[in-house]
Amino acid sequence: MRSHYCGDLRVEQVDEEVTLVGWVHRRRDHGGVIFLDVRDREGVIQVVFDPDRETSFALADSVRNEYVIEINGLVRHRPEGTINPDMGTGEVEVLGKELKILNKSETPPFQLDDHQQVSEEVRLKNRFMDLRRPEMQQKMRLRAQVSSYIRNYLDSNGFLDIETPILTRATPEGARDYVVPSRTHEGSFFALPQSPQLFKQLLMVSGFDRYYQIAKCFRDEDLRADRQPEFTQIDIEMSFMNQQEIMAITENMITGLFKEKIGVELGEFPHMTYAEAMSKYGSDKPDLRNPMQLVDVADLMANIEFKVFAGPANDAASRVAALKVPGGASLTRKNIDEYTKFVSIYGARGLAWIKVNELAKGVEGLQSPIVKFLGEDVAMQIMERLEVKDGDIVFFGADKTNVVNEALGALRNKVGVDLDMLTCEWAPLWVVDWPMFEQTSDGGITAIHHPFTSPSCTPAELEADPLAAQSDAYDMVLNGCELGGGSIRIHENEMQRSVFRCLGISDEEAEEKFGFLLNGLKYGAPPHGGLAFGLDRLIMLMSGTESIREVIAFPKTQTAACPLTNAPGEVSNEQLKELSIKLREKIKI
Ligand code: ASP
Repeated sequence: MRSHYCGDLRVEQVDEEVTLVGWVHRRRDHGGVIFLDVRDREGVIQVVFDPDRETSFALADSVRNEYVIEINGLVRHRPEGTINPDMGTGEVEVLGKELKILNKSETPPFQLDDHQQVSEEVRLKNRFMDLRRPEMQQKMRLRAQVSSYIRNYLDSNGFLDIETPILTRATPEGARDYVVPSRTHEGSFFALPQSPQLFKQLLMVSGFDRYYQIAKCFRDEDLRADRQPEFTQIDIEMSFMNQQEIMAITENMITGLFKEKIGVELGEFPHMTYAEAMSKYGSDKPDLRNPMQLVDVADLMANIEFKVFAGPANDAASRVAALKVPGGASLTRKNIDEYTKFVSIYGARGLAWIKVNELAKGVEGLQSPIVKFLGEDVAMQIMERLEVKDGDIVFFGADKTNVVNEALGALRNKVGVDLDMLTCEWAPLWVVDWPMFEQTSDGGITAIHHPFTSPSCTPAELEADPLAAQSDAYDMVLNGCELGGGSIRIHENEMQRSVFRCLGISDEEAEEKFGFLLNGLKYGAPPHGGLAFGLDRLIMLMSGTESIREVIAFPKTQTAACPLTNAPGEVSNEQLKELSIKLREKIKI
């Protein structure tokens, strides 16, 4: 049908006869001349109809926004003074000769260039319209280009793209499973994969050596700000490669991708241990664009009267830390109240602070509701340790270690952005040397990555003191987001059984749930490892977007529903019967 994309026309095409197809972006009537901005995926071109050609002119007059039209016309220079440098096609226009309406459109649910006024619910309900917006087209295009780059990179490095099942058994990655009832096996359920983890490991046992897949994963997680129940991973696994080799080949993939697709040089990624990340940044995914660090002060508080600090300072499971905000003394009482409310989301029961007005005056130069409880010596020792200057503010956290880390870690991120303190645009790093397990709130233990991660000790040492065990895990972090995570895997049956035991999974249960893996590990499983990148988050960062929903064509809402299709939906009694499922009556509240 078409000779050119609308958005591709340039001065080179002047005097050419062209046929274009696209959507009416805007129609303007300028003193007897009709201008149609016609849009396709490459951009917008201005088409002019004058009354000389009566039929086309009348048709052009009748079209409305979002009609689909076909135009035949002549490309010409725009008249002097009407050149639009903001448009790719801004130096030219098309003199319309013939116009055909290919399809009409009802009045759109929202103006495409006015989407900011529209709720996300409405945008998602009309996603087919929302995706017409040039901004969304751009993001989808970047997404396709990134996938293509990744495939090329991995293909040319000897990786094989192998698909793994969607209807499967549970693969624990720390979330709830989505389950699918089986019709043919009454009372039994498939689980949708939280990741292809176990299959990719079995592919290593089978000798494929290097595997990848751009894989859909499903996790029924609690409603957290920016998660999707189904999302996409770039899933990678390799045999006979050590941690350094795996990190190098994947780092190279990401640096190449950023350079080629968005012109960004990420440089070599620094490595930081998990312990250092938690201690200095209160986070296992520190945003290193932000220069502020947490500083431990428990030793200085251990002997003071003030229980709020002295209590945690003398408890091994707690932490007392300070965060110095340079120039933060200008924060108002209201700002501080807001930050206090903010840290309460993370369980902090308050937010103590000291403003440094004039250090030369000693404790007299400090402004704070807590100095009197700390005493002069302690207050000044803290100031010295933090190397404060006049005009700074220091915030404190004193509580269970995880509460302090989460609260001050989040505060550090927020204040850094609020006070415009970020020192660079991109800050990648690897976080390494992770503990194998962590304690859950109910006193149990859980794997920090997943139970297939290789501990860096023997099975006996592991079982003797699971919480002390380190693991060969690594995460790639960019600007405070986890881009990817992975590990060297357990490739020996005995070690895998030990890990299950540590997690309170009996040998019997392990056999029932993971027998296929344990079996695979008995038959010459090679040493192997890998990792997975979150594709959605990667595109989000590369396109400078705030939410992963913006880079997924048809995302779900935060309540895991799809406003477009109204999924999830009810099924008929017939279907339920076939599945031998009887619904319990909904409890009326
Ligand atoms: N399967 C892991 C995950 O989805 C990634 C990996 O260890 O390769 O987080």
